[in-house]
Amino acid sequence: MQELHTILKEALASLSAIESPALLEECKAKYLGKTGLLTEHLKALGKLSPEERPLRGAEINQVKVAIEEALRMQREKISQLELDRQLAAEALDVTLPGRGHGVGGLHPVTLTIRRIRDLFSAMGFEVAEGPEIETDYYNFTALNIPENHPARAMHDTFYLDANHVLRTHTSPMQVRYMEKRQPPYQVIVPGRVYRCDSDMTHTPMFHQVEGLWVSESVTFSSLKTTLIEFMRRFFEQEELKARFRPSFFPFTEPSAEMDVGCVMCHGEGCRVCSHTGWLEVLGCGMVHPNVLAPLGIDTERYVGFAFGLGVERLAMLRYGVNDLRVFFENDLKFLTQFN
Ligand SMILES: [Zn+2]
Repeated sequence: MQELHTILKEALASLSAIESPALLEECKAKYLGKTGLLTEHLKALGKLSPEERPLRGAEINQVKVAIEEALRMQREKISQLELDRQLAAEALDVTLPGRGHGVGGLHPVTLTIRRIRDLFSAMGFEVAEGPEIETDYYNFTALNIPENHPARAMHDTFYLDANHVLRTHTSPMQVRYMEKRQPPYQVIVPGRVYRCDSDMTHTPMFHQVEGLWVSESVTFSSLKTTLIEFMRRFFEQEELKARFRPSFFPFTEPSAEMDVGCVMCHGEGCRVCSHTGWLEVLGCGMVHPNVLAPLGIDTERYVGFAFGLGVERLAMLRYGVNDLRVFFENDLKFLTQFN
């Protein structure tokens, strides 16, 4: 067996040269492990006389403590070295110029609402907004949709309680607006509406713009002129074709759906227009006397028209987006295209 002082000298010398944690562990095993050099000495203690044993034991222990201390210090030194190396590798050059700030932009739905609002304002329409939580009365009854009327089933309504709903359309604001003012009226109402529906072309929340024009001289022809002019300006196509098909809404009579010539294929037929060459863009009609009369409006003297259009629908057509849901996923790769 090697002498204790030789073991200590060797151990300290080799430890101080080690620079990796793995080698450090190897060295530890060589001296302090189960078959280590120092362990051999401990095992040999049993062969000594009871008098010699404590003295020898103390000597071995001193060497063991010294080696353990050297191990600890070397381990610290290694981790410090490792840290220094890492810091040097990952150093930041704080003198480099910055990358600049990304500039945010408006959401395409907001851009579309603003565009619609600006175009109607230019035609003399005022802009009004109304509450998103509506009473059953404003959402249905006042719009000529009494209780148990089948038209209520056309709206997949979110009921908050027996008397309150998340508005299913922006039309209730027509009534609220007229209640507080004397005709003539010329107003649009942009806002969020809610339907219990979700797929590629429906989301539970979407945006509508309601329009109302009531005066002594409005006719169905004014309705057509106004809406055709709006669509031509919106899609920036002066020759845009339009047609009106008979339809049904409880709050207008007569009612119509407006189609425009497909803005993608210009009438040739494509996937967007289901190869018909036409796109359905809004619902409209002459305001039903049953809506005007309860507000105290003289229906012999005043007539009006109303329309409701889907903002996302127009945004999809204008920007060539084919899935409604991307407007609500807030994927920056999609949104930054509109900056
Ligand atoms: Zn088409």
